[in-house]
Amino acid sequence: MYNFEKMKEATQLMMEAVGVQNDEHSKETPDRVAKMGEILYQTDKDPKDYIKLFPKGSQEVVMQKEIPFYSFCAHHHLPFYGKAAIMYAPNETNIGLSKLARITRHFSKGFTTQEQLTKDVAEFIYSSELKPKGVVVIIDSTHTCMTIRGVRAPGVQTRTKEVQGEINPETLNQFWLYVGNPSSFGY
Ligand SMILES: [Zn+2]
Repeated sequence: MYNFEKMKEATQLMMEAVGVQNDEHSKETPDRVAKMGEILYQTDKDPKDYIKLFPKGSQEVVMQKEIPFYSFCAHHHLPFYGKAAIMYAPNETNIGLSKLARITRHFSKGFTTQEQLTKDVAEFIYSSELKPKGVVVIIDSTHTCMTIRGVRAPGVQTRTKEVQGEINPETLNQFWLYVGNPSSFGY
């Protein structure tokens, strides 16, 4: 559960550690950062609420790509961001198309790693009431902890993939072609 007061205190401490002057620009900063934290780190609701089922149409698979997300790496607390692509092979039911983006956003809140995020989204969808035959999640991302510190390698993009359940190789190949090469995230 997000603790607003603690975040305010932590921000104040960080400013002291860095030696930020308490001038007109920064005197409201602990409050601002704590408010921002509610948006960046707090997960809004139980992701199971996104699983509202509809009778299946005739489609064999549902594919969606270019799902934007923003997250923070658990190792350095710096942002990483990019695009997710999700495919599932339905059994008896579908979920609303917008829910794939909502599920991705849910698991990207707070501090995680790209590998964990990819697994969390795939596992959640696969084990949900949707009960699909299989799920594939591909995530392409840029990590600012690799661009502004450490190896300082701007432009590096990382792709992760997670498969849960049964997806036949031909379908997997179609999805791979559909997703294509990582698009540029502005670098
Ligand atoms: Zn990192």
